[in-house]
Amino acid sequence: MNPSLEKYLSRVRRPSRYLGKELFSVIKDSRTVSLRFALAFPDLYEVGMSYLGMKILYHTLNQRPEIWAERVFAPAPDMAQLLKELSILLPSLESGRALKEFDLVGFSLPYELGYTNVLNMLSLGGIPVWSRERKEGDPVVIAGGPCTFNPEPMSGFFDALVIGDGEEVIQEICAAWLTWKKVGGDRQILLRSLSGLSGVYVPAIHSKNREVSPEIPAIRKRIIPDLNQAGYPAVSPLPYQQIIHDRLSVEIARGCTRGCRFCQAGVIYRPVRERSPEQVYQLLEEGLSRTGYPEATLLSLSSGDYTCLNQLLPALMERWEREKVAVSLPSLRVDTLSSEVIEQILRVRKTGFTIAPEAGTQRLRDVINKNVTEEEILQTAQTVFSLGWRVLKLYFMIGLPSETQEDLEGLVLLVKKIEKAVRKKGGRFEIHVALSTFIPKPHTPFQWAAQLSMEESLSRLTFIRSALNSRHIQVKWNDTRQSFLEGILSRGDQRMSRVIYRAFQKGSILDAWGEHFSWELWQQAFEEESMNPQRYLKSQDRDYVFPWDFIQTGVEKDYLWNEFQKGLSGESTPDCRQGDCNQCGICPTLKIKPLIFKEFTFPSGRPLIVYPKESIKKFRLLITKTGPSRFLGHLEWKEAIIRSLRRAGLPLAFSQGFHPLPRLSFGPALPVGLSSMGEFIDVQVQDWLSEEKIWDRLPADLFPGTKIIGISEVPLNSHLPQKQIYQYQVELDKALGDPERVKEFLSSTEWPVEKPGKKTEPLNLKSIIRELSLLPENNGTLTARWTLESGPEGDIRPELVLRSIFNLTDSVIQSLSVVKSLSVSNY
Ligand code: SF4
Repeated sequence: MNPSLEKYLSRVRRPSRYLGKELFSVIKDSRTVSLRFALAFPDLYEVGMSYLGMKILYHTLNQRPEIWAERVFAPAPDMAQLLKELSILLPSLESGRALKEFDLVGFSLPYELGYTNVLNMLSLGGIPVWSRERKEGDPVVIAGGPCTFNPEPMSGFFDALVIGDGEEVIQEICAAWLTWKKVGGDRQILLRSLSGLSGVYVPAIHSKNREVSPEIPAIRKRIIPDLNQAGYPAVSPLPYQQIIHDRLSVEIARGCTRGCRFCQAGVIYRPVRERSPEQVYQLLEEGLSRTGYPEATLLSLSSGDYTCLNQLLPALMERWEREKVAVSLPSLRVDTLSSEVIEQILRVRKTGFTIAPEAGTQRLRDVINKNVTEEEILQTAQTVFSLGWRVLKLYFMIGLPSETQEDLEGLVLLVKKIEKAVRKKGGRFEIHVALSTFIPKPHTPFQWAAQLSMEESLSRLTFIRSALNSRHIQVKWNDTRQSFLEGILSRGDQRMSRVIYRAFQKGSILDAWGEHFSWELWQQAFEEESMNPQRYLKSQDRDYVFPWDFIQTGVEKDYLWNEFQKGLSGESTPDCRQGDCNQCGICPTLKIKPLIFKEFTFPSGRPLIVYPKESIKKFRLLITKTGPSRFLGHLEWKEAIIRSLRRAGLPLAFSQGFHPLPRLSFGPALPVGLSSMGEFIDVQVQDWLSEEKIWDRLPADLFPGTKIIGISEVPLNSHLPQKQIYQYQVELDKALGDPERVKEFLSSTEWPVEKPGKKTEPLNLKSIIRELSLLPENNGTLTARWTLESGPEGDIRPELVLRSIFNLTDSVIQSLSVVKSLSVSNY
């Protein structure tokens, strides 16, 4: 983080987004690196930190001693404003270096509604937004991720776009940059060299004369034939705050061969390549031990299809059940849910259950090649509720090709049948129905189909909601205007760059966030560019040339068209994972084969933690919350501590029930930004531990700013002390500390203050503050100190004292660093 920013962090929401310094973040000596690479993610920290591609590239690049890869995320509007006010350029998390000072800036593009964030980040980082305006000395700005499979809408902003798996090509790009730096030459020479790399599209070179000739040489996607050889991070920077997917993720396979006809990922990541179960096991072993995460997820487009799942899951649960680590499987298909798989997931915790029928009738499920039957869906729903789940999520799409009113009614009927089947089982239950509007994504069999207008989409969604009127059923849908925009941006051509730029200039950012999205701004942008957005969402003829046709996924266009026609006639296409090739073209074209593993050899000599006894002891820890930790919210700090204790191998005691949690008690929450030298935490652990053993196991600093300074055993039935006397101290510029105000306070009999936001009687500070002093000036600063007793409801916030007694404004208070310490304790 930029050091000049730290003292202003209290002025923004969730300052932990900007702190950096997480465990496993990589810090290098700048003098020893030759290439500084910014991995940029066009959304907020909590979203970007959940994105697998960025974690893989961070690991891959930082393994090279001559390269330092750092992370940069989109700032929230309050931070963007603060950066402008302070004239600080958007900094990286690791070194705090401004974006414009990097050699290469690589954006991940996982979804279209982040496009204007790219422009905002470039602008805040001091880099010209249009690639044509970048000069010698400016960073080279590149992009990768699923959206680059139609690179044209963003082609005006990037110097190069990478198509396909990034692990190898990123190394080649770095090698090209290092050679160029050594040999010398202008920016054009580097771009020319990048344009020669397989899988790299350089708009300025490849489509320079696009206005004259529509021909762009084909760019074929890059692919990693064997994930086991590509390198994968067992650990990545460990966030303090809760992120969107807050668990250890191990990618068990890339690619899916099920062939759902609406699914872009199913085409662009083909063919399937599984990671060996031994490597998955080893990555989980190392990752869970080193991070302390209580949950791991086995990631892939269809985790239930992983060939060795029935062998791997029991082995994982055997190893981690005792430590209450839950294993989750996202993207489960109902036809892959064997009772063995469900039983294994259940062994620790029910991690939420989702079924994605996508369409309500069998006819429409056949059109989209979602080869699941109504019976399978009903059976799965009954099974999960009878095993104790209480909430079932169902995903559906509306507007799929050939959808009729009958299909919408079928959707309603299916949900009602599920409700009825579950009701028979008895007990409390909820069904959450999530609806989205179908988008005909590039490279899919449905790319020729039309997308619904916003009005039609809203009318179909409203019909479903009104028909599903039950207290057990909750219906939600994606904003139809956002889906409409996503469709346009995903199917756009080069002209779309101008619209994106206009929308950004008008203030459109964070479009994926409902509270920031403004369709009106986009409408104006389209109008000012004289573009009719609807034209991108029309159905097309077979021979239509799409803007993305020059990108070769390896799957032939004829195959996609035939799949579209087969879909319309309700004909299914089987899965090719186990060897029945459907001739999509990718394997011969890319000279690759599906890679699966049928056997799992259980690793010998695996470490198993064996606890001698089951009974419990309680220890009281005295702990600091200073430095970067003071900017963590109470929940963030709690989670970070729990993970630290798990990492240290402390045998925690857990609560019983469906969601076993570690038995820890914390005192009242501290205001964000306040440093404390003495917070209490009670921890219950297995009773063979002693104070000495805990000291031995725990590191000196649990994480930056959080340090254990005392441990003592307390009776199991004791509670955290309700009352404590604390001293507060803050250094003030001498112009801010008025000794007369202190005298006035000390000589008064009453000092009433209103508690902000509370409609209660004013507090009398005079009866709460026990001592107050202003120490003599030292180097232009005065030290204010006060002592008070905290009650069960928490402390009197220091800003109340500083505002009321010292007459300071909120913006001054936010830049001060107040320290709380234990004055007298019963510790
Ligand atoms: S070429 Fe055949 S085996 Fe390979 S992904 Fe396509 S359908 Fe599957």
